[in-house]
Parts: sequence; structure tokens; C-alpha cells
Amino acid sequence: MRILIAEDDFTSRTMLAGVLKKSGYEVVETINGSAAWEAMRQPGAPGLAILDWMMPELDGPEVVRRIRGVETDQPPYIIMLTSKGDKSDIIAGLDAGANDYLAKPFDAGELRARVEVGRRMVEMQAELVKSKATLAHQAGHDSLTGLLNRRAILERLHEELVRARREGDLLAIGMCDIDHFKQVNDTYGHQTGDDVLCGLTQILSESLREYDSVGRMGGEEFLVIMPMKSGADYTSRLDRLCGRISESKITTRSGELSITVSIGVASAAGESTVDTILEAADTALYGAKNEGRNRVVHDGR
Ligand code: GH3
Ligand code: MG
Ligand code: MG
Ligand code: MG
Repeated sequence: MRILIAEDDFTSRTMLAGVLKKSGYEVVETINGSAAWEAMRQPGAPGLAILDWMMPELDGPEVVRRIRGVETDQPPYIIMLTSKGDKSDIIAGLDAGANDYLAKPFDAGELRARVEVGRRMVEMQAELVKSKATLAHQAGHDSLTGLLNRRAILERLHEELVRARREGDLLAIGMCDIDHFKQVNDTYGHQTGDDVLCGLTQILSESLREYDSVGRMGGEEFLVIMPMKSGADYTSRLDRLCGRISESKITTRSGELSITVSIGVASAAGESTVDTILEAADTALYGAKNEGRNRVVHDGR
């Protein structure tokens, strides 16, 4: 971990840096408040700062206030250096947002111990941020395929519908359902079935353009969302996708397998809502299944 030292007194600064370097920390030394603030506002700034109270340009409490004014989910741990026994300094420093204080002249053992507490706090905070991000990702993604889950892809659909209406653009969706998927599970087992779902995910992802989205609605059903300019030919895109899937060999633990999908297509018209466009795509999918599967059927055709 990197530690910033802001201390204008040469002797004190050198001693601080010496103790910390000996404990294995990487040390950034500054000699006044504004240099400290500059260093702490950079991306990737040190996780812990030791700030002297009295410094040229900006004093310690002012540097603390500035650092605390920055919104971040990983705030640095700040230790203020105070003159021994000055209680009002200690209180004012903590009030400004410091986490701890150290009396000058400092004791090397105490410095190491207090910095160690700070390091643990910074690491705990980083763990927390990481698990929060993991949870947020899990909440919106399907664990098997890594695709957006039902909730997230429906949220995306709502956003895209609103945007298409506002901009006068076209929005087409394709509901893709694997044909006779139950047979794959029955013949090769559920795990091979899972491999097929992942293989199909890869084909779908490779077929998407930058603005398209795909999500797993559940089971062996995937929703593709395609925003486009009105007049664009989305049906042939989905035809090509359908053909590409049927020609692909999907690698599974039971060897290479081929599958086909049926795709029900619907496009947003006027006041389409998530419910109405999904219903239209579902009806079209039902039609594709009835007409013999491995095909694309457009709603109302
Ligand atoms: P259709 O052509 O009419 O769509 O037939 P189908 O067999 O694909 O459809 P059906 O709804 O009868 O069966 C879907 C199967 O998908 C049944 C279920 O066990 C399987 N399935 C759903 N989710 C998963 C999963 O996460 N992994 C695996 N391996 N199978 C799944
Ligand atoms: Mg000073
Ligand atoms: Mg199916
Ligand atoms: Mg199904």
C-alpha cells in the first residue's frame, strides 16, 4: 500500500518515511498542504495519508476537508499529526474528517500500530466495494450464461422502447427458443444441456452489433433487442442468425451437437409497451413452432 506523508519539518518527515519504508510501505513525501492535496486528488492516490497540522499553503485540517469533499467509495484513511497533548487540536482534526491522530514527537511503535489499523480499514473498505460490485453484477446477470437475466433484459427493453419512441426509431425484438431442448437433456443429461445453453449464448453474442442486447428470459428462451433506424431490415438479420445457429456445431462434454431455434419477431409500433411487444413476439414464436420450428416468424405475418 502507498502512504502519503505531508510534513514540512525535514527531520520529522525523514523519520516518518524511514519507519514506514522499513515496514514495507511505499511512501510519497510532500512538504506542504497544496502538494498533499494535489497528490491525494489524483486517480490511484495513496490509500492512507499522514498529514501534519501546521504546513505552508494549506494546513492539515483544510487538506482533510478537501479530501473529504470528494465523493468516492474508497476514501483514504487519514492520520493527523498533532502537538503532544493538545486536546482541542485532536478534536478539531477528527471533526474535519481525520480517522486518527498521532502526537508529535511520535513513537515509532505507535506509528506502525496506527498505520496498521488504517491499512486494515482501507483493505476492508476495498473488499466491501468489491463485494458490492459482485452483488450488483449477480443481481442483473444469469449465473450460467453470464447474460442479462430476465429482470435486467426487460428493464433494457423498457429503456429501448422509450428511446425508440422519443427518437422516432425502430425497435425489433426476437424471442429465441431452442427447439426440442428437452430431448438434449433427456439424451445427454442436464449438464450437456447447460453446455448447449452456453454455446448458444456465444453464438448470439457474436452475432450482435454494438447497440443490440441479449438476455436469458429463462430456461432455453433468449430475448434479442435490436434498436435500428426505421426501414431497416431486421427480419433478414434474424433469418441469418437462425441459419447460423442451425449450421453451428456446439462443443459440449458429450461432443459436438447441433441445435435449431425458433424465433418470434415483433417490432415496436406507436405506443408499444414491454407487455404488448413481448406478447406479440410470443405469439409469433408460437407460430414458428407450429409451422415446423427452425424458422423466424414475424408477428402478424
Ligand atoms: P420446443 O421445441 O417446443 O421448445 O420443445 P422444448 O423441448 O425445447 O421445450 P420444453 O418447454 O418442453 O422443454 C424445455 C426444457 O428446457 C425443459 C427443461 O428441463 C429445460 N431447461 C430449462 N432450463 C434449463 C437449464 O438451465 N439447463 C438445462 N440443461 N435445461 C434446462
Ligand atoms: Mg508543520
Ligand atoms: Mg424449446
Ligand atoms: Mg421454452
